[in-house]
Amino acid sequence: MKTDILIVGTGVGGLFCALNLPEDKKILMITKDETENSDSFLAQGGICMLRGEEDYDSYYEDTMKAGHYENREESVDIMIRSSQEIIRDLVKYGVEFAREDGELIFTREGGHSRPRILFHEDITGEEITRKLLAQVRKRKNVAILEKTTMIDLVCQGNVCYGVVCQKENGELMAVQAGETVLACGGVGGLYEHSTNFPHLTGDGLAVALKNGVELENIDYVQIHPTTLYSRKPGRRFLISESVRGEGAVLYNASHKRFVDELLPRDLLTAAIRRQMEVDHTPYVWLSMEHIPREEILRHFPNIYQRCLEEGYDVTKECIPVVPAQHYFMGGIKVDQDSRTSMEQLYAVGETSCNGVHGANRLASNSLLESLVFAKRSAARIGKELSGIKENAQIFDKLDLSVYEDYEKIKEEYRKSIEEETERMRKRHEQSNYHEVKCG
Ligand SMILES: Cc1cc2nc3c(=O)[nH]c(=O)nc-3n(C[C@H](O)[C@H](O)[C@H](O)COP(=O)(O)OP(=O)(O)OC[C@H]3O[C@@H](n4cnc5c(N)ncnc54)[C@H](O)[C@@H]3O)c2cc1C
Repeated sequence: MKTDILIVGTGVGGLFCALNLPEDKKILMITKDETENSDSFLAQGGICMLRGEEDYDSYYEDTMKAGHYENREESVDIMIRSSQEIIRDLVKYGVEFAREDGELIFTREGGHSRPRILFHEDITGEEITRKLLAQVRKRKNVAILEKTTMIDLVCQGNVCYGVVCQKENGELMAVQAGETVLACGGVGGLYEHSTNFPHLTGDGLAVALKNGVELENIDYVQIHPTTLYSRKPGRRFLISESVRGEGAVLYNASHKRFVDELLPRDLLTAAIRRQMEVDHTPYVWLSMEHIPREEILRHFPNIYQRCLEEGYDVTKECIPVVPAQHYFMGGIKVDQDSRTSMEQLYAVGETSCNGVHGANRLASNSLLESLVFAKRSAARIGKELSGIKENAQIFDKLDLSVYEDYEKIKEEYRKSIEEETERMRKRHEQSNYHEVKCG
């Protein structure tokens, strides 16, 4: 199979890249699962937007402070400065954000010194991703293949010529592409307790590692302080930070507050873990008693419903919450146009590391960061397409039989990510570079 541009992943990163690419180019998108099964669909709280010039310094400082000042300053600046344009794009594509009298309204989350987060009830990610997907589906130049898993890059001499993937029936297939964009999301599937989809197992990282593509900070993993405690296995249900932003409080076993609920995520996680140790409990309590019932039903209907299904009425009682793996700040190292260290290979979204988040992500910056840098990657690809190098011979010689034992490959990939993570962790510790550990 041959295409001008191949995008691996159909979350917001992949979709927004596709929408911003030239419409006269053939684009193939592949996704490991069904198209709707991406973390982008799960985002609850919202997406940040610079309110106005008077908000710039404070938004910048909040992002840097949350990231322990390890953020790449120029990337933070690009993200903040592009935010209004991105929101305009989303509104143009039909995304509806909460409004009052026609004006956008903003909520607040931990680490933000003022409200600057747009939202759609508590299903902001679903609203954005569904609308982007609908736009992509209208494009005649874009094809989507579901249940198709990228398992390796096809590359030579530090140039990427496409990927090897496996279809649902186990069949192996090589895709030749002028440019390849990895938009494969995070690493939650490698953890026992995570808010992410289990099929997000850092595949972008694994193939990058295998083929010598540079990575950055892959030991920087964010733990979300508040997910609904459950004894059942599987994905953890997130209790969005905006619930605390709207006034929910945390209680210890004696039903006393023990922490500032709006601390950045890593610090709050550490405080909750300490409290769980003191109380000898596997959770702490979260109470929405200070939020009016109508507000809970209006702003958090999904959380309300889900907790009800688990046996808790949040308008009347506390719920048990526990930290769980949530987000990945590190990734494939990219520049401001999302170019990796390998030619003709880009990375966007959670798979990539452009340095926006530093050592710890500020709430509701990730959808924005994914969109901003996906759009930039598309602009760059549009410029580079004329200079593409092709290499049909490499595909003629490709031996797909080496990929037949995918279970073994998965295990090797998992191991290589673990080892590299450990190596980076040690390097950070030795250099005293990262003073406050994430999660
Ligand atoms: C519960 C939850 C709540 C969140 N809330 C917010 C929020 O309020 N605000 C915010 O800004 N961020 C939030 N986030 C984070 C945000 O949703 C993600 O960072 C963002 O959506 C990532 O987008 P993405 O396109 O990079 O990846 P994803 O949306 O995760 O998409 C990854 C895609 O890659 C595909 N894929 C993976 N591996 C392969 C492979 N080997 N071959 C083919 N396809 C592959 C997957 O199938 C999927 O289509 C939240 C995350 C979670 C989990």
